Amino acid sequence: MNAIDEKLQPILAEVTRRNAGEPEFHQAVHEVLESLGRVVAKHPQYLDLALIERICEPERQIIFRIPWVDDKGRVQINRGFRVQFNSALGPYKGGMRFHPSVNVGIIKFLGFEQTFKNALTGMPIGGGKGGSDFDPKGKSDGEIMRFCQSLMTELHRHLGEQTDVPAGDIGVGGREIGYMFGQYKRLNNKYEAGVFTGKALAYGGSRARTEATGYGNTYFVQAMLATKGTSFDGKTVVVSGSGNVATYTIEKVQSFGGKVVACSDSSGYVLDEAGIDLALLKEIKDVRRERISEYARRRGAGVHFIPADRGSVWDVACDVAMPSATQNELSGKDARALVKNGVIAVGEGANMPCTPEAVRIFQEAGVLFAPGKAANAGGVATSALEMQQNASRDSWTFDQTEARLATIMRGIHDTCAATAEEYGAPGDYVLGANIAGFVRVAEAMRMLGVI
Ligand code: NDP
Repeated sequence: MNAIDEKLQPILAEVTRRNAGEPEFHQAVHEVLESLGRVVAKHPQYLDLALIERICEPERQIIFRIPWVDDKGRVQINRGFRVQFNSALGPYKGGMRFHPSVNVGIIKFLGFEQTFKNALTGMPIGGGKGGSDFDPKGKSDGEIMRFCQSLMTELHRHLGEQTDVPAGDIGVGGREIGYMFGQYKRLNNKYEAGVFTGKALAYGGSRARTEATGYGNTYFVQAMLATKGTSFDGKTVVVSGSGNVATYTIEKVQSFGGKVVACSDSSGYVLDEAGIDLALLKEIKDVRRERISEYARRRGAGVHFIPADRGSVWDVACDVAMPSATQNELSGKDARALVKNGVIAVGEGANMPCTPEAVRIFQEAGVLFAPGKAANAGGVATSALEMQQNASRDSWTFDQTEARLATIMRGIHDTCAATAEEYGAPGDYVLGANIAGFVRVAEAMRMLGVI
């Protein structure tokens, strides 16, 4: 990791002490503090007002028991989380993650990142995140529904369209949002559509929300490439993951003329030199919920499946890398392999997928690097558009919504670039995103007094 300004070191030490055993949260805070030395030099009042300390402390953390009954009639217990991180700019906003690795430190890192990401969109949304250590893999529809209903039986009292508005994340897609929203509606006896985003079109969802994170990352990388006078056209691209973000990244990259030759899941990756067949991928992952090896089997000769213990998707040579699976999935070793193979741009679709060492290697090699809190903000920005449509009881067309998304992503790109320039680090999108997001939240908090 890079050095932190000495005035900020005690803040990191205190965050580490108070949040012991939460390495992902420490990593996320460290990465933001690395950028803030130049901000406190310019605005010393942020230190006097303890604004950084306040931003690092969630406003509220809710941890609860989720009992549910499986198909065999056995009682199962999971743990639920909602971290309401910061509401200076609007209601808490951020997804729910269902994955066995979920713990309070992971939800805190995601909520912290989300606060700055939401600020970067320029929309009136605060930051929050939630989830459970529940593993949806291999569960029946009935089990998923009973689990979601039990979770919402507790969580509903902490939500509201003016209070806290969840959405999806890893393991939480349209099906899970439907079950959670259904139970929320039943318990509250009112149709409060704006309390959840990522809803299906049938009951108040927004067109283009499903596609928004992957499309948004692609728009961001396209804007970075344009600063070097190039584009996706004819480029070879590798995308990790094969879930929501990965799928729609592949779709948009292909529409811009790029060729995606590899994607993955936690079991391994597939290499398809002719270009990923997206219709087949969607059928296998989205409809049939099968493993990625099935893609290679169905596609036949010339397409290979490489298990996770035999290689990394980042061994595949490409011009553009778009990590879209999970945190810390792209190591320093992976970054060195990508640089050696001539990568020119990296766009983080996932949250914090590149380790600090990997980020440093990309930046030192002059690779265009888009941090997740800027590049994957298209999902939450379109969630805010969904809230707007719900509030006005309106429903926009796909093209209208996507056009707004494209404008927002270009705006975020330009804000990051201009902020990096203003603070003396042209081309450093990490610094630009951290400072622009931080200053927007910090200014609002300063005006709201010590609360
Ligand atoms: P999905 O659950 O739809 O897909 C996740 C994908 O990543 C799956 O292919 C999954 O494989 C893979 N994956 C998950 N954990 C691991 C792991 N430990 N090792 C290797 N692969 C893994 O989630 P999303 O696409 O929604 O989210 C992906 C990332 O994007 C996350 O970091 C999320 O926080 C971020 N994000 C998502 C947004 C959204 O709108 N959905 C918005 C902004 C960020 P497998 O099925 O084998 O687990």
